[in-house]
Amino acid sequence: MSIKKIIVLVCVCLTTQIRAQQTTTHQCGVSIEDQLEMERLYPNDTHKPFNRQDVVYVPIKFHLTANTDGTGRINDYYVLNQLCTLNTDYDSSGIQFYIANGFNYLNNTNIFSSPASYNSQIVLKKDAKALNVFITENAETSSSTIGTVQGYYSSQGDYVIVRKEELIKGNNTLSHEIGHFFSLRHTFYGWENVPYDKNIHGDTIKFLHAPGITNILVEVMNKSNCADAADNICDTPPDYNFGLTASSCLFNTAVYDINREKVVPMIKNQMGYFNYCDEYFFTDGQSERMRNNFLSSGRSHLRVNYTPNTMYIEDAPVVISPTQGSTVATYDHVEIAWDIVQGASMYLIEIRGSGFYYSDIVTNPNIVLTNLKKSSLYNATIRPFNEGFTCSTSKSLTFRTGTSMYVGTSDEWAKEVEMVLMPNPVEKGTNLMVKLGVQGFTLQSISVINSTGQIVEFESKPFDNGNQNFVVNTSSLTSGFYILRAKVGDRIVSSKFSIQ
Ligand SMILES: [Zn+2]
Repeated sequence: MSIKKIIVLVCVCLTTQIRAQQTTTHQCGVSIEDQLEMERLYPNDTHKPFNRQDVVYVPIKFHLTANTDGTGRINDYYVLNQLCTLNTDYDSSGIQFYIANGFNYLNNTNIFSSPASYNSQIVLKKDAKALNVFITENAETSSSTIGTVQGYYSSQGDYVIVRKEELIKGNNTLSHEIGHFFSLRHTFYGWENVPYDKNIHGDTIKFLHAPGITNILVEVMNKSNCADAADNICDTPPDYNFGLTASSCLFNTAVYDINREKVVPMIKNQMGYFNYCDEYFFTDGQSERMRNNFLSSGRSHLRVNYTPNTMYIEDAPVVISPTQGSTVATYDHVEIAWDIVQGASMYLIEIRGSGFYYSDIVTNPNIVLTNLKKSSLYNATIRPFNEGFTCSTSKSLTFRTGTSMYVGTSDEWAKEVEMVLMPNPVEKGTNLMVKLGVQGFTLQSISVINSTGQIVEFESKPFDNGNQNFVVNTSSLTSGFYILRAKVGDRIVSSKFSIQ
């Protein structure tokens, strides 16, 4: 009898019981069969010893799905939090994730509300050079008899589904599912459908194979069968799916293995099912397996020979305008501007008002809002980040709009402030000439920023009054694109240049 047939029989018998026992979170939709299938399709054919210092960078594509009319999508804010959590959870494994070419905003009710029924549509939306994560409303797998699950890895389509609710709650669901993506099994492998129950299995597990499954060994404490039993990893002790029915991050039940040794599961393991723990981790054995899967033949599409910007961002943005609590005269043209944050190459800006929410990701440190209401109170939040570091601190401010309409031609600043760079492109080792016309405004600072958002040159006031001429010596800079940015008055003027 095949494994599949046995699972069907077991599930029919125990469905009611499992439903009754189910707690609330961390139920994943990856079955025993799915785990075997992922190992068949993406075999671990690389065997390098684990070295966490040798960090591997994994491009990740987040697909923020919504209904076809665009409603229901998760806010970008939670996705940045999720990437921060992933990189924290995988730090000790020497695996770091980075955003591959921005987020994908996908409007498709089918994928959003019932992804398991639309595998072929999902596959069409994948980024071929990234680990694809679809953030959906539901994550009910067709193979699951338990009902709605929190997420799953599809070996068939090689992508991960995670419910948006999990990101909002800040759970470790995605860390767990990506563990499956990189060929990790559950620590309790074999017990997925029949979690340990004292009334059924007794205090001492006297059988050799997982309940109802003839070819999966029950792991024992003395490690004598750890390489062949359960998850086949020796630094994760036995677990008979104790977590599924546990109501806290604790395990006090006395259960003994066939050698009469007390079973002590690893409660906080990422690939277990215990809920409510304050943190979860991977063992070195699991880390080694995941990294070898990343280095395997089936994962060559993820190894794109690119080192992302992962620079730590220490500072919250300093807002230039509007000032906290102020009223902006206009309502149809409100410019929010802030100082460049060291290390940041992007900013998430969120605007909240009564019945109003707007968000955008920008690369320049300013945004002009044209869709606000008259005489209304708004809150703006600015969060700096780069493709690999999103654990950054936001800055919030409140402001009011006035009743005036914006008249573009009255903008004296835009008429008078001018920046000219020559020559552009400039040859490495020679000087870039900068002419800055600031008629009547005061130059506050000038900076050169590289393509990853890093400030490589910076000068601040006092400057001489009037128009300015500068020279940027390019001999210490590498070839590539740069931005020259000046703060004039309370606003920013910038120009791009390249060194060849
Ligand atoms: Zn799982």
